[in-house]
Amino acid sequence: MELSIPNLRKKELIEKLSMMGIRDRNVLSAIFTVKREFFVSGEFKRLAYENNALPISNSQTISQPYTVAFMTELLDVFPGCKVLEIGTGSGYQAAVLKELGAEVFSIERIKELYLTAKNTLDKMNYKVHLKCDDGTKGWKELAPFDRIIVTAGSPKLPDNYIEQLKDGGKVVIPVGTKHTQQLWCVTKTEGKNKEVKINIQKHSDFRFVPLIGEEGWK
Ligand code: SAM
Repeated sequence: MELSIPNLRKKELIEKLSMMGIRDRNVLSAIFTVKREFFVSGEFKRLAYENNALPISNSQTISQPYTVAFMTELLDVFPGCKVLEIGTGSGYQAAVLKELGAEVFSIERIKELYLTAKNTLDKMNYKVHLKCDDGTKGWKELAPFDRIIVTAGSPKLPDNYIEQLKDGGKVVIPVGTKHTQQLWCVTKTEGKNKEVKINIQKHSDFRFVPLIGEEGWK
């Protein structure tokens, strides 16, 4: 599994992400630390520090480093923060969240990806709670969460995520059509009588693989 990627290539990627507007030093440092080449296979390993999405199996992708950095910055995690990720994919985003000190729960619907991600994260000693299921339902038994990050494009914001979020919690989710989505950063606050208020900030267009499930694309 060992493959040495010169730190120079990683530094160049971090510089590019800074120039593109990523400011959070902790996020940049987590991206520098996580060995992205371990989350892709064969010929794609040498492209691990390019700012590109790369294919993984089952026609899915590991997101572009800029997208991972931007979503992670929006998510605003803190050490000990309880994060639910929907769409484990390769496990890379989960590893970045672990480097930031979060307790990470992640759901993947495709069994083969779930098993590969489990193997990779175990080998790299990232302790992530994984489950193979339809993540549009959330993870009710383990709720509430401080943060929820959805790494596949959804037609809407599923109610389950708001229900499974703590007061003051945030969801970062791409919402739109199957071809293009806006990144929504949704903050939930509860009033004195537990009435729920939602604030949504929308960010420019992104392109994710579809979120498929009960509350996603059919
Ligand atoms: N976070 C991943 C990483 O770091 O490699 C990239 C995720 S990839 C862009 C989106 C993933 O969401 C795919 O692996 C896909 O199978 C998964 N997915 C789609 N719909 C899902 C659902 N309802 N529940 C869980 N995972 C889902």
